[in-house]
Amino acid sequence: MLTSHWHATLDRPPLPVIDLPSTAEVVVVGAGVVGATTALWLTRAGLRPLVIDRSGPAAGATGHNGGILAAGLAENYLAATARYGHDTARALYALSLTGQRLMVELIEQEQIDCDLRLHGNLNFALGEAQLSIAAATVASLHADEFPATLLDRTAAQEFVRIPLGAAVSGARFNPAAGTVHSGKLVYGLLAAAQRYGAHVSWGATLQQIVTADGSLRLVTDRGTITTPAAVIAVNAWSGEVLPELAAHIKPVRGQVLCTVPVEPFITCGFGASLTATGEYGQQLPGGQVLFGGCRAIAPNHDVGVPPGDVSPDVQNALETGLGRLFPTLAGIAIERRWSGPMAFTADYLPIVTQPATGLFAIGGFSGHGMPFAAIVGRYLAEAVQTGTLPAALALLGMERATLL
Ligand SMILES: Cc1cc2nc3c(=O)[nH]c(=O)nc-3n(C[C@H](O)[C@H](O)[C@H](O)COP(=O)(O)OP(=O)(O)OC[C@H]3O[C@@H](n4cnc5c(N)ncnc54)[C@H](O)[C@@H]3O)c2cc1C
Repeated sequence: MLTSHWHATLDRPPLPVIDLPSTAEVVVVGAGVVGATTALWLTRAGLRPLVIDRSGPAAGATGHNGGILAAGLAENYLAATARYGHDTARALYALSLTGQRLMVELIEQEQIDCDLRLHGNLNFALGEAQLSIAAATVASLHADEFPATLLDRTAAQEFVRIPLGAAVSGARFNPAAGTVHSGKLVYGLLAAAQRYGAHVSWGATLQQIVTADGSLRLVTDRGTITTPAAVIAVNAWSGEVLPELAAHIKPVRGQVLCTVPVEPFITCGFGASLTATGEYGQQLPGGQVLFGGCRAIAPNHDVGVPPGDVSPDVQNALETGLGRLFPTLAGIAIERRWSGPMAFTADYLPIVTQPATGLFAIGGFSGHGMPFAAIVGRYLAEAVQTGTLPAALALLGMERATLL
């Protein structure tokens, strides 16, 4: 994959690794934000997990994402309510809000230096139709006592020190949002887990899971690990490891660009619907503007495309889109471009499943996993201890009607 800003600027010594052992108390497969958080919760419960990854920390979606940690769902609250029904949408939104706050707590408690900025997120509306949707979304969030603010164009401009594009009609502000350095976050979560007894081993690809004699055998290309319990958190690769997930979790390429540094001009993360698949961004602490999205421009929305490269159509759309939101940034030089592996389900919610005794799997975050990682990680650690998925994760079960 092309080097992301998060990998290019990680600036940390490698985490100490061990050779792949033949046994472990519990194994976490996948060192993205979900695997790293799950490992930390497991250590907090007194267990000593082994974390393995085919590449290394944050090698997948997490290390190539937008770094936005925002309560909410992949779709806006109106669309989510229509899709899942009101009570389920409310419960899911509450789960994401709890998860976003829990991640902030973990970062603070473990003193993880990951450029966390709790400055909220502005979702720009373009034109009157989008502003009406933003108003209705804010009203429905308020009705369920979730935080959100509707801003007209003048109020939105107050967050931005350069002129907003002519099409911007206002914005929806989410105060329960922040931005992080995704690479430093995963590194810090894993380092914290290691302080409490976790081990990590990189360069082993899980190929098959065999259940035998009450234990699990995780067959990798570097050897087999026998363990009573495992959490599979490989997101876009879920279907390769657990064939029953292949029909439900589709890999999707997400593309990002990062400009050269400019003077600070915005005080929060931001998003927009310039295209049907949406855009997101943040100005990084170093001044660069990270901007991603525009999948709708690509053939078949980049579904099923491996994330090795970027494509000119989407990258051009991102550059044009950035200029539409902030005209003074039109034509700005681009420092870096990359893509990453998102994992989509039919209803834009992750799937949690227990395929066998002691075996738990999660994946399919549909481009919006950061606010869920801390809370699902905690529930998965609980599942390892009790042997059963907690009831709170039933909303993400494979049996849900919206997935079919
Ligand atoms: C371009 C892009 C932008 C995004 N922007 C945002 C955003 O701003 N905010 C947000 O909330 N979400 C965003 N997302 C989504 C978010 O990044 C993901 O939902 C989240 O990172 C998923 O974390 P994970 O740990 O489940 O998976 P990943 O981070 O993908 O980690 C999975 C890990 O599993 C490893 N692995 C895979 N197969 C195997 C195997 N067989 N054996 C061993 N290891 C294996 C991989 O190497 C990888 O490290 C974005 C995603 C992309 C791609």
